[in-house]
Amino acid sequence: MRVLPLLAAFLLSATGTIAAQVPMPVPRPDRAKAAPAPVARIAPPARPAERRVPQASGPARSDLTPDDENEDDAPCTDLLASGIAEVEVNASISGRSGDALCGDVAPVRITAVLLEGGGKVELRPAAVARCEMAHEFAKWVREDLSRSVRPMNSGLKRIEIAASYHCRPRNNIAGARLSEHGLANAIDVGALVLDNNQRIAIVDPEAPQYLFAEMRLSTCKRFTTVLGPGSDAAHHDHVHLDLAKRRGGYRMCQWSHAEWLIP
Ligand SMILES: [Zn+2]
Repeated sequence: MRVLPLLAAFLLSATGTIAAQVPMPVPRPDRAKAAPAPVARIAPPARPAERRVPQASGPARSDLTPDDENEDDAPCTDLLASGIAEVEVNASISGRSGDALCGDVAPVRITAVLLEGGGKVELRPAAVARCEMAHEFAKWVREDLSRSVRPMNSGLKRIEIAASYHCRPRNNIAGARLSEHGLANAIDVGALVLDNNQRIAIVDPEAPQYLFAEMRLSTCKRFTTVLGPGSDAAHHDHVHLDLAKRRGGYRMCQWSHAEWLIP
């Protein structure tokens, strides 16, 4: 059949024409630079609860991936380099409260907060907390609390720490969920002591209420949980501060005996 060679010639001619009319994509030499970063290289946000809680046996630092180490070291680097507190890196801590695992892979022991102008506020006893919590607490003392006591005509000398790291359930109730204290993510303040040795207990009804009102305002801005007198019986004599992360960014600010002063 002569038709086939003719058809083949026609097709060859036609496809050749089409190929000539459709330009081939021109490789872009800078494609790698212009393209967005591959999704796989964008690390998802850390899940703090999982990152902070060690294995039951307590992992060694060498067990951590480089990313984990960076995540853990960054707040410590910020805190240690900030020069705003006297801190030492604590050994990894771990424990068990019921079925829950306590601890943190790299907590710090914070003994004092250094103020602008050279003053120093001692923490007694020293607080053991994860770096983020210790850092925020130090900034609160330095930037907020030290200013709130100025009307007292005496500087802030010491903060009495009612609790920091403690592997236990919430409010010490057996079977309750693990306290943020168990994650080294909470610090309790029991009292303030001024340079003139005046002691201001959180529970003291005679204490200046404007001071507590300012403390309530500043703590509730910085911390995601603030539980003071008036919140429940477990917090009648101290104020609990932590950086718990909750769904939807929910925060708790309950310190009612100073509430009447808050606009
Ligand atoms: Zn507490």
